[in-house]
Amino acid sequence: MLEIRDLRSGYGLIEVLQGISLRVETGEIATLIGANGAGKTTLLMTLSGQPRARNGSIVFDGKDITHTPMHNLVRLGIAHVPEGRHIFPRMTVLENLQLGAFACDPKNFADDLDFALTLFPQLESRMAQRGGTLSGGEQQMLAIGRGLMSRPRLLLLDEPSLGLAPLIVRQVFDTIRLINRERKTTILLVEQNAFQALKLSDKAYVMVNGAITLSGTGAELLGNSEVQAAYMEGGLAQTVPA
Ligand code: ATP
Repeated sequence: MLEIRDLRSGYGLIEVLQGISLRVETGEIATLIGANGAGKTTLLMTLSGQPRARNGSIVFDGKDITHTPMHNLVRLGIAHVPEGRHIFPRMTVLENLQLGAFACDPKNFADDLDFALTLFPQLESRMAQRGGTLSGGEQQMLAIGRGLMSRPRLLLLDEPSLGLAPLIVRQVFDTIRLINRERKTTILLVEQNAFQALKLSDKAYVMVNGAITLSGTGAELLGNSEVQAAYMEGGLAQTVPA
């Protein structure tokens, strides 16, 4: 579904992505893990067109989207939930969700809203509340819900668990699995919480200094001693209560 070949991009004189190649197949959850500053967010941002790719190609469903502007990607079926949520703080929860559906057939709105509220029932009683007054966890739910309102076939999720309490982290990961299963949405997930992310991933990549250094199934990387030492503190520190 998504094929990235030899992708390079960066900011000014700094080249962050040093020639990234990876594939995400239809229906799978693929995860990208890596240390702070490795370039994970830059990869998702480059997929969305900002910063622009300097070299290489991005193909989505057989179509070259390397230079497709961000607003057209939504119409093609790609939604990006950025790091730090970036909801519209002065708009209500409902307005944020409506914005997520701007490029879609209005016939689907009620169904899509229903699905988002089934995933995040906490939002239902807060539809008239301004986004900026939600808690961090609720804002993350709203950001994912807004991304889903465009019925994406590919969902790009950047650090959805960042800064959330363990129980909310668990809900977010459960929801990611549910979106993938129920809607058959393909997911490319960037995560610092390697243990939780690898557990639910079909495929995973490790990024170091803007290059992919390791790849395999989620289970393979979960069992890899280098990955455990570098990103999981033995897998114990990042475990959340059952
Ligand atoms: P984290 O897990 O901390 O979010 P990351 O792997 O997502 O890290 P990026 O945010 O992609 O890493 O950053 C990669 C490099 O690019 C870093 O050195 C960062 O300082 C630099 N960088 C990111 N955004 C910009 C920008 N807008 N202008 C200049 N440099 C940037």
